[in-house]
Amino acid sequence: MRRRFGRIGLLALAALTIFLGGCSNNARRPGRVRVVATYSILGDLVQNVAGDSAEVTTLVGPDCDAHTFEPTPKDGVSLAEADIVFENGVNFEGWLDKLHKSSKSKAKRIVVTEGLQLRGGECNHAHKPGEKHEHEDDPHVWHDVKNAIHMVSVIRDQLAEADPPSAETYKANATAYLAKLKALDAWVVEKVTSVPKQNRKLVTSHDTFGYFAERHGFEIVGTMLTSVSTEASDPSPATFARLVESVKAAKVPAIFAENVHNPKLMERLGKEAGVRLAQPLFTDALGKPGSEGATYEKMVRHNVTIIVEALK
Ligand SMILES: [Zn+2]
Repeated sequence: MRRRFGRIGLLALAALTIFLGGCSNNARRPGRVRVVATYSILGDLVQNVAGDSAEVTTLVGPDCDAHTFEPTPKDGVSLAEADIVFENGVNFEGWLDKLHKSSKSKAKRIVVTEGLQLRGGECNHAHKPGEKHEHEDDPHVWHDVKNAIHMVSVIRDQLAEADPPSAETYKANATAYLAKLKALDAWVVEKVTSVPKQNRKLVTSHDTFGYFAERHGFEIVGTMLTSVSTEASDPSPATFARLVESVKAAKVPAIFAENVHNPKLMERLGKEAGVRLAQPLFTDALGKPGSEGATYEKMVRHNVTIIVEALK
């Protein structure tokens, strides 16, 4: 069932969204196939393939943290009305199963990371020799542009299947966008070469740059939250002190805060370790419209520029 809002209803909804300033970002347009993307980065990839041929709704908006997101009834409505849902998977959207169930959504769920080689998350605790032990997989695949290229291919194929009349449009949109992403990937590879090998070290709020690090030869020296999720609690004084020592020992030129996490602890870390805190990076969400992280392409260019300038 597709509902249409009158102009006044739309304005009221827009006003309410602005007033609440929350993490939901549901721009309604009368459309054909209804598509939900769970978070802003994925929403941008989907939008680039969908163009005007599908109505795309993103659940977790810019600068908002998908790890800790709390869905509202409006998000349930979006799912209930959707034909297809694109999700990251790998436990990134821990709230989605429950929301999908409670909304009685019949939407087809597509995990866009399926088929990618996943990496295990950071491990900061002691191991006994031979101890068997599982790590949570790292969901932050998008920081390697090659993975975003894979995600876009999945989106293209699934949209074409779900909406055959627009299949050719989705394919053409995807081809144009993939060319941009390939150019972006080549730009990143070239750009990081100006960082000397001994300076390719990252210290961030949480363990989000693993795929970037692996691809481009960076080392993750440490993270404030020793986890691939921001749901982890703040470090104990002892853990914090150890991180200060690691940062000093690694002689990193700078450390990095993130747009989805409070920078206070990173500021303290910078002070105590005597290291510069660089401009925040866009990590698990895009920035707001008009910002330097407003799209996936912009976000990657911004992050890499900040990292390279701070470490070279
Ligand atoms: Zn994260």
